Amino acid sequence: RYERSSALFRAAYNVLPGGVNSPVRAFQAVGGTPVFVKEAKGAYFIDEDGNRFVDFIASWGPLLFGHAFEPVLEAVIERTRKGTSFGMPTALETELAEKVISMVPNVEKVRFVNSGTEACMSAVRLARGYTGRDKIIKFAGCYHGHADAFLIQAGSGAVTFGSPNSPGVTPGTAKDTLLATYNDLESVETLVSANTGEIAAFILEPVAGNMGCIPPEKGFLEGLRELCTRKGIVLIFDEVMTGFRLAPGGAQEALGIRADIATFGKVLGGGLPVGAFAASREIMRHLAPEGPVYQAGTLSGNPLAMGAGLAMLTAIEKDPEVFTRLEQKTAYLHKGLEKALDSKDVPVQINRFGSMISVHFTDAKVRDFESAAKGNNDYFKTYFHGMLDRGVYLPPSAFESYFLNDALSYEDLDLAI
Ligand code: PLP
Repeated sequence: RYERSSALFRAAYNVLPGGVNSPVRAFQAVGGTPVFVKEAKGAYFIDEDGNRFVDFIASWGPLLFGHAFEPVLEAVIERTRKGTSFGMPTALETELAEKVISMVPNVEKVRFVNSGTEACMSAVRLARGYTGRDKIIKFAGCYHGHADAFLIQAGSGAVTFGSPNSPGVTPGTAKDTLLATYNDLESVETLVSANTGEIAAFILEPVAGNMGCIPPEKGFLEGLRELCTRKGIVLIFDEVMTGFRLAPGGAQEALGIRADIATFGKVLGGGLPVGAFAASREIMRHLAPEGPVYQAGTLSGNPLAMGAGLAMLTAIEKDPEVFTRLEQKTAYLHKGLEKALDSKDVPVQINRFGSMISVHFTDAKVRDFESAAKGNNDYFKTYFHGMLDRGVYLPPSAFESYFLNDALSYEDLDLAI
């Protein structure tokens, strides 16, 4: 069935150093067969072999309304026809910034970049420039893109991704990046006391999506907020996954806690590469030309990306009920999965927060990647391969984080249960 895709995979492996892009590689790591997407519309995509899949990955999050969403398509086509004029100011950039400011709490200025990674890198640099301090506290298992390599300092080679207990995860220990434990305020307080006056910022996912949807425990974010205010530390919320997905104002709105700098990506670009970081005027004045932090990029704020982002946020603004619909669908999936997995006696824990949901396999045998890679892991076979055979595409990882999109019908959800 996947013969042609496999041939493509081999070809790609030959010409792309280190293999092909992450979703395909991740799929191979769990013993799956790579799926090459040929075209996509709404909740579905078709692979190179002509198979149709219900898509639960939504490009790892951005496609809130599904594939080939008309307003974004039209905006991109229109802007392309008008010429791209990269590197020149356009009204679109200002308009998108105004839109972000109107939707996200506590934000007065926005700067656009090309990815979530860049947004997080920029936020950290800005926090260092603003405070005049070097040290950053990050949380084991929170993912901030390949900027993790930057946060942890060049050369250390350590990247944290996924649950702190995931195989292959080495927490970074470089001297300027200190590692705390998510949901453990004490571990943060200990680090802060041991580095008095040296911590520039905390960076974290307000809902830890990359650990499999781990929500903040009561008092954790409140405690961090209070500590930051008291010690002059910058609180950075990495809202790349939660922004414009949990609510129009992201986790800050959903949880009622305010960050000093927030970073965005994924949904913001509607499927095009757009990232952003946003903060108060007071903090943002430390960017060049007024401040010490130089921030520019050849393609940052380009009109195609800005047009796509504007179309996406305008669609959300016109249809704020999209968040309620997504949450209802997620709750339906949650209930269905719980029932289905219960009857199969599979040891799992399902985490959900609003429209974010993850299924964790709690049995060590299930998390055995080596046997999975050799195709000997029955749970993975059941999960990934079984789902593929059913025509359902799940994001392959140590846990199942489903990214729902508005185009999914309840019948599509039933197929994944
Ligand atoms: N931060 C979070 C919370 C993410 O989930 C991701 C991507 O998955 C990133 C940052 C990195 O964003 P990008 O892949 O656009 O560089």
